[in-house]
Amino acid sequence: METIRHWINNEYTAGAPEDRDTADVTNPATGEVTGRVHMGTAATADEAVAAAKAAFPAWRDTSLTKRMQVLFRYRELLNARKEELAALITAEHGKVLDDALGEVTRGLEVVEFACAMPHLLKGGYTENASTEVDVHSVRQPLGPVAIISPFNFPAMVPMWFFPIAIATGNTVVLKPSEKDPSAANWEAELWKEAGLPDGVFNVLHGGKPAVDRLLEHPDIASVSFVGSTPIAQYVYETATATGKRVQALGGAKNHMVVLPDADLDVAADNAINAGFGSAGERCMAISVLVAVGDIADELVAKIAERARTLRTGDGRRGADMGPLVTVAHRDRVAGFVDAGEQAGATVVVDGRQGSYDAEGSGFFLGPTLFDHVTPQMSVYTEEIFGPVLCVVRVDTYDEAIELVNSNPYGNGTAIFTNDGGAARRYQNEVSVGMIGVNVPIPVPMAYYSFGGWKNSLFGDSHAHGTEGVNFFTRGKVVTTRWLDPSHGGINLGFPQNG
Ligand code: NAD
Repeated sequence: METIRHWINNEYTAGAPEDRDTADVTNPATGEVTGRVHMGTAATADEAVAAAKAAFPAWRDTSLTKRMQVLFRYRELLNARKEELAALITAEHGKVLDDALGEVTRGLEVVEFACAMPHLLKGGYTENASTEVDVHSVRQPLGPVAIISPFNFPAMVPMWFFPIAIATGNTVVLKPSEKDPSAANWEAELWKEAGLPDGVFNVLHGGKPAVDRLLEHPDIASVSFVGSTPIAQYVYETATATGKRVQALGGAKNHMVVLPDADLDVAADNAINAGFGSAGERCMAISVLVAVGDIADELVAKIAERARTLRTGDGRRGADMGPLVTVAHRDRVAGFVDAGEQAGATVVVDGRQGSYDAEGSGFFLGPTLFDHVTPQMSVYTEEIFGPVLCVVRVDTYDEAIELVNSNPYGNGTAIFTNDGGAARRYQNEVSVGMIGVNVPIPVPMAYYSFGGWKNSLFGDSHAHGTEGVNFFTRGKVVTTRWLDPSHGGINLGFPQNG
């Protein structure tokens, strides 16, 4: 049984003396408790923030060259040892190994993006903005920043933020999910190995009390949050009220629209991948398939045929789909399946029945396919975050776009069609932040930003890309005159440039 401690000042600590509570960490594939994570409260949060604050002045003033040497070493170490991190993710999250490796790869790409920071941080310079007056701009780091991350991407989501935060000269307190906390500690140890100075990257474990302290702490300059919509909204409102810069990415209900001219085999393959990959525990999972026109019977049959072939089991044994993260979450998702059936949706494939390739009593649920779902049913209105795909039938494109745009979430969406004009119209008209055209899950690309609209994001900034660089820096504009300092003597008027 492992004790999972905080990481402050480049070493493990049990935290403040008053913080001795722990929470169980399980292997969802076996149900076995594999670790106990320390649950910090305000006292340990203060220690982590103090470390980040003390480290900030020296890290801010460390040359970009030296900062990038650390980043490049981190990239090399991560790339060389990514299988280790993937195994750790599978052991606590449950997703299959190959999927876990995909997650690490996406995080690695943000590290690579951050390795270009000397270029990304270049400011502008204008000579002779006025006679012999020059103007230039720089972007400077914010200070100690907080990152609060969800269980479903324990390695990648923190990496959406911390490589950029660190490369731009900030120091970090990461509060990972208490459900799968070990990936964050692994990432922290790697930073130390890469030569990151003490206090620049800290990991604070815990739940709401730890988060609440970060949200109000006067020395925390910004908060990057990813998680469910109610908490994202709470984090946004609380932390902005204390004057912080906040980006809070929330939940999702992603629709995949299939037009009648689409290749139905391609659409069915993609619906399976995006609906059931990672057991539906992805913010970019497709949870609603909108079948337009008369294709629904054929499309549902094709998806059902494929869903029945999926192997659910321990992610280390070559299964297609792993377990859900906790027993409570498995029961919640199964409850939605019950509710959908009772509300009158057709259960085409029933995930409550089936066998699993695993030992012990893991938190498994097979893939469920519902047909004839209506927008009033809870399986449609709620974010289920499990292997449940709902088919809604509509007659026209206009009905489809109306459905998607009326949904309170706006994270991702996809359209499957062979009609370029229809796809172009959809991407123009849809109120969603990330769109796939014949691509079911537009995966994050480090050099573009990642983020939704509406209830899927609170704040103005998406994660990573140049938006990430801007989020973790503040602009400064300097106006300079060296020649003729008197410049005409006393003149109280507002200068008219000349
Ligand atoms: P969650 O909201 O339960 O937890 C997220 C983080 O907030 C965790 O670190 C948790 O410890 C903390 N937290 C939980 N309750 C809190 C409270 N009351 N006060 C303060 N902090 C609290 O989310 P989760 O279940 O870990 O993750 C799944 C959710 O994350 C889904 O809704 C999913 O859509 C969303 N998600 C969104 C994106 C995105 O890019 N928009 C990406 C990944 C996950």
